[in-house]
Amino acid sequence: MVSELRRDPTSGAWVAIASARSRRPSDFKIVHGEQKTGTCPFCPGNEHMTPPEVLALGREGQEPDVEGWQVRIVPNKFPAFSLDYEDSTDTDIPADGEYGLYVSTPAVGIHEVVVESPEHDSTLGEHSQKQMEDILFAIISRFRSLREDDRLRYLQAFKNWGREGGASLSHTHCQLIAIPIVPKVIQVELDYAKQYKDRTGKCLYCDTVEKEIEIGERVLEESQHFLAFCPYASKFPYEAWIVPKRHNQAFEEISRDELADLATMLHNVARMLELAFDDVPYNIVWHTAPWKGDFSAYYHWHLELIPRLARIAGFELGTGYYINPTAPEVAAAALRESVS
Ligand SMILES: [Zn+2]
Ligand SMILES: [Zn+2]
Ligand SMILES: [Zn+2]
Repeated sequence: MVSELRRDPTSGAWVAIASARSRRPSDFKIVHGEQKTGTCPFCPGNEHMTPPEVLALGREGQEPDVEGWQVRIVPNKFPAFSLDYEDSTDTDIPADGEYGLYVSTPAVGIHEVVVESPEHDSTLGEHSQKQMEDILFAIISRFRSLREDDRLRYLQAFKNWGREGGASLSHTHCQLIAIPIVPKVIQVELDYAKQYKDRTGKCLYCDTVEKEIEIGERVLEESQHFLAFCPYASKFPYEAWIVPKRHNQAFEEISRDELADLATMLHNVARMLELAFDDVPYNIVWHTAPWKGDFSAYYHWHLELIPRLARIAGFELGTGYYINPTAPEVAAAALRESVS
């Protein structure tokens, strides 16, 4: 069997689906890094070990930085971005073409940690429905308040899980990094979505949802408001996307019903990964509209879950294209099986 080159319609990236290898979950050897031992700064009772919280849900009473919370957001102890810049009211970065050779701007932004649960060992696939809703609600609250800051253009929400996924602390958490520039990856998605809209008059993501439901074989789960599937041109083995059915550019604009539905969906997809593999390391990235400008005609927010089963190597670094050893049709079937 030969490999097939597939084009990712959302980024233009090409992926070689090396289906001859068609690796099943058991074919991947997962390397478990050593976890740091010692006192966990995210566990209840250790609130003094983190910088003062910016948000806590579920605690009775007004006193901050004590136990009793269900979700807690704190600044990263070693932030890559900070709002503490004097004279940083203007972070307008020159447009392409106006750059000199070297350009810099203050790293204005925030870097926060969302401690998902008071329970150290709980996982996304184990949290209760209420816990999942609280996590999403807490993240949305930060989106809504940070977008009021004129200096910020984008909030990247993400999760690193497992050592290979980049998590340095084992207590389940997500992260938020707000930055003064629109990420390159998002700019590419905006450009491709706009081109598609200009060419067809339709939304690339709405069309993808419709098409995946019609084809069916890559679908992981369908709910009232969301579709989870392994994308046609999956860059990584067992990659899964969660896309809302309602056309909407921004994650923070979801309704209460959609939030509850997403909580279930995210839990279920994480559970599929957790059951298919032995404690798989993974990343989740939120892709949503930047805060300056209106992209509502063609952009459509979504989540990408990326198991870290294959390393990015020379070909990927050199070309920006990918070799995926597991066809998404095989991945979807195996993930569905894991919970049946
Ligand atoms: Zn802990
Ligand atoms: Zn759409
Ligand atoms: Zn995306």
